[in-house]
Amino acid sequence: MAIMDIKVPDIGDFDEVAVIELLVKPGDAVRAEQSLITVESDKASMEIPSSHAGVVKALKVKLGDKVKQGSVLLALEVEGEAATAPAAPAAAAATVVSPAAPAPAPTQATHAPVASPQAASTPFDFDLLVLGSGPGGYSAAFRAADLGLKVVLVERYAELGGVCLNVGCIPSKALLHVAAVLEEASHLGALGVEFGPPTLDLGKLRTHKTKVIGKLTGGLAAMAKMRKVTVLRGYGAFVGPHQVQVEATHGSGQEQTGSKQIVSFKACIIAVGSQAVRLPFMPDDPRVVDSTGALALPGVPKNMLIIGGGIIGLEMGTVYSALGARLDVVEMQDGLMPGADRDLVKVWEKMNKGRFDRILLKTKTVAATATAEGIRVQFEGLDGSTSEGRYDLVLQAVGRTPNGHKIAAEQAGVAVSERGFIGVDAQMRSNVPHIFAIGDVVGQPMLAHKAVHEAHVAAEVVAGELLGRPELAAAAFDARVIPSVAYTDPELAWVGLTEEQAKAQGIAVRKGLFPWSASGRALANGCEQGFTKLLFDDRPEAGGHGRILGGGIVGRHAGDLIGEVALAIEMGADAVDIGKTIHPHPTLGESIGLAAEAAHGSCTDLPPQRG
Ligand code: FAD
Repeated sequence: MAIMDIKVPDIGDFDEVAVIELLVKPGDAVRAEQSLITVESDKASMEIPSSHAGVVKALKVKLGDKVKQGSVLLALEVEGEAATAPAAPAAAAATVVSPAAPAPAPTQATHAPVASPQAASTPFDFDLLVLGSGPGGYSAAFRAADLGLKVVLVERYAELGGVCLNVGCIPSKALLHVAAVLEEASHLGALGVEFGPPTLDLGKLRTHKTKVIGKLTGGLAAMAKMRKVTVLRGYGAFVGPHQVQVEATHGSGQEQTGSKQIVSFKACIIAVGSQAVRLPFMPDDPRVVDSTGALALPGVPKNMLIIGGGIIGLEMGTVYSALGARLDVVEMQDGLMPGADRDLVKVWEKMNKGRFDRILLKTKTVAATATAEGIRVQFEGLDGSTSEGRYDLVLQAVGRTPNGHKIAAEQAGVAVSERGFIGVDAQMRSNVPHIFAIGDVVGQPMLAHKAVHEAHVAAEVVAGELLGRPELAAAAFDARVIPSVAYTDPELAWVGLTEEQAKAQGIAVRKGLFPWSASGRALANGCEQGFTKLLFDDRPEAGGHGRILGGGIVGRHAGDLIGEVALAIEMGADAVDIGKTIHPHPTLGESIGLAAEAAHGSCTDLPPQRG
């Protein structure tokens, strides 16, 4: 046995670097190339591996110390001859570096071979760990794997896909489709086609929804395999800046088994999403549900209360109403679907008023009790008035809260706001340079398509930095707009500046509006109540050729149509660009070109404009 000093190897261009993490302690047995400490410069963080195997006798550095090539890190007790044998490759393993700086290339040491990228990565189990497999998580994992990284995806549930695929976007749309068909069939009587009253088989309906989910989540599992992404089932929590502990889970839920493993990684993308907010005073009763409970379709209540008049609540209300439930909705703000322009919402309100017994606006839900007859709920108007109701089912749809506080982020030094959000920059990087965050956990809008785009950015930055590809490392989230859609009946979709925002911000806009009552296709389809509205920059500096700033559509398939408006905004199109783009006739999409023509001054499908 002999004692030898383990020193900082050649670390490239770095003069002095700070010790930010001690990965071993006296008494630990270490392997050759096992990481000993993490150091960080203003450009990179690196793990310094051991050149020999042995037992740590004494640490010669502490946190915050500055070290450079040749600094002694620790005294290692090694087997006899090893002390005098040539040192094993001991290049520092560079982790994620800032985009401004290229990754420090392993440099030639005078007495040791150049460490291959493979050798540099051996101290870590994976290049990238992605925590959470929702639209953000799986997209990040798959993009990173496509770019050549060794990726592990950690998910607590048996199925991949997160909220969106399992209990969000997809199951709600599977049910909304059925609701839309029911509604349409009921209106066909006026066109001379009568159906009998529908009979419901809720079991079959649930099976339809489950099948749709299964196809998608099964597809994700298969695609993970094809990409050689390791999927680890379990609950992940940080135990260090480069380590997550995964406790295995089982069953359909997330029951923890107690079986734990530590997974190490060079970089991490946190994609742990959000969960429904529960009002503290609501009784614990199966008749009080959140969106997940409502999607389970436990039955069709006679009457149902929706607490929260936002998109999720009203989508679920549409489903239950089509199946036969009467609805009340209570909302604290002065209108339903906050965020959308009121003219869009007005069309929806007119077409939906028959579903509701009461629409309580500027009203708080203040108490609730479970009784044999139903859930009794008390309301308080912002004007001080009080009222109450009794319901067979109460849906809480008052928003979602991020899961940032549930992953021991502090163990990795990741800052989490009081509300549970993780702050990130345009590259989706947290305050810890090699840890990124995406999706619902980084903020509003909590939408799947935002999560996916953020995922691609984070994965490209990580891959670019680890693989030394500056064109990828420069990726950033620079989308101008993120569309919003309520998949209600009719659908509402909007993107970019709304008319209300333009007014509040003092931005002069020129509006082009095309009512669907002038659209041949809308009339043929029996959906002429909708309209398409585009807003163009009308400030003096735009010189009368202002670019499109926003748009809103209400009507059937509005969600499918709004993508074109988003593209026009991204491309900086003006009214002529859009109006002169030939849209196929007769389509609902045509209404976008026609709205642009209207904004430009002459739309030959509308009466002449005056003035
Ligand atoms: P999530 O989808 O929430 O996924 C996070 C994943 O991380 C989950 O699978 C979770 O189990 C896992 N996880 C969390 N913590 C851990 C841990 N510690 N260890 C292991 N795994 C963990 N958005 C739209 O764009 N369009 C829609 O039509 C739409 N409809 C919706 C309808 C409903 C009813 C709901 C509730 C949401 C809807 N959304 C919709 C929102 C959308 O679902 C979310 O914005 C999206 O799922 C966010 O993706 P994410 O990847 O950030 O997180």
